[in-house]
Amino acid sequence: MNNILTQFIRKIYNSKEFIPLHAPKFLGNEKKYLNECIDTTFVSYVGAFVTKFEEMTRDFTGSAYAVATSSGTTALQIALQIAGVRQGDEVITQPLTFVATCNAIVHSGGTPVFVDVELDTLGMSPEKLSDFLNEFAIIKDDGQCYNKASGKRISACVPVHIFGFPARIDQIVEICNKYNIPVVEDAAESLGSFYKDKHTGTFGKLGILSYNGNKTITTGGGGMIITDDETLAARAKHITTTAKKPHPYEFVHDEIGYNFRMPNINAAVGVAQMEYIDRILENKRQTAMLYKEFCEENGIKFLTEPKGAFSNYWLNTIVLRNLDERNEFLKFTNENGVMTRPIWRLMNKLPMFEQCQSGNLDNSLWLEERVVNLPSSYRI
Ligand SMILES: *Cc1c(COP(=O)(O)O)cnc(C)c1O
Repeated sequence: MNNILTQFIRKIYNSKEFIPLHAPKFLGNEKKYLNECIDTTFVSYVGAFVTKFEEMTRDFTGSAYAVATSSGTTALQIALQIAGVRQGDEVITQPLTFVATCNAIVHSGGTPVFVDVELDTLGMSPEKLSDFLNEFAIIKDDGQCYNKASGKRISACVPVHIFGFPARIDQIVEICNKYNIPVVEDAAESLGSFYKDKHTGTFGKLGILSYNGNKTITTGGGGMIITDDETLAARAKHITTTAKKPHPYEFVHDEIGYNFRMPNINAAVGVAQMEYIDRILENKRQTAMLYKEFCEENGIKFLTEPKGAFSNYWLNTIVLRNLDERNEFLKFTNENGVMTRPIWRLMNKLPMFEQCQSGNLDNSLWLEERVVNLPSSYRI
């Protein structure tokens, strides 16, 4: 299996060189727009590309508002803060995610609490979430949800759309609504992924996207907060831009703000990439279908979008039989110049989060030993 899959990857990428996991690709107006930034000197926090990029994101995702930020991590920190997370609160998330999810929870003042994922979507399990809240949640007289075990307020829930596969987000939101817990979707990996024809990140109170160099499209580095709530969008814009009161020349700031705005040169690259996002998504889908066919023929379990979901196939994913098979595959491919990688070490096993409360994590533990990502860059 190791050898035939490696050969197949070399064939579809038509390359004898090193094959990366996910390289950025620039096929449009990126250089032109960057030159425009430099020629006009609008490289930093003033310039039209940021507004344009936000506009294109609104159109594409169907979200009413979009606020560009310096990264997906800062987008999530601010989204959590304006969703109501305060120092000492708890935030429910999944242990199977990239560390940035949990870092942002802590940056916003919260402590993560871990609820298991599903085997087919890799997203938070509505059943396990429901079980956890049944056992531990209580709504007090102030109308807020508290954790009976810790006495702390549970002020947000952050499900993650892993590798672009949409989580069962409608069910998650429905459960959280019963407990007055706002949902902030980590859609960092799922630009172009839809659930029941609605873009991921638009189901919760707020959602966030990332444009890091390895994501579906990139701005070099950057993020986006999306929401349908006008007040929250205005607050997001305000505090990510030093909380400055609008004035032609006076400097007045009315609260502690952040310098989390996306610079114009990053947005310029984003605008260029968004101009052909459909082509990028189509290309990624074709690659996924080639993998799917090959894996089916060779008895390898390849993850596909669940019913009702449309995945961007950001990172193609196989589930191997056990840890030994996984380790051998990773070793063989990486030694032979084809980059593959295991899924992340579970968050509850990292030293920073070892003390955090967890529900039953059977599925996460099972997946941790078996999931591998295959090269998924745009194919020429
Ligand atoms: C990439 C990513 C982030 C963070 O985005 P950055 O732009 O790298 O800060 C957050 N969550 C998940 C699941 C990610 O994959």
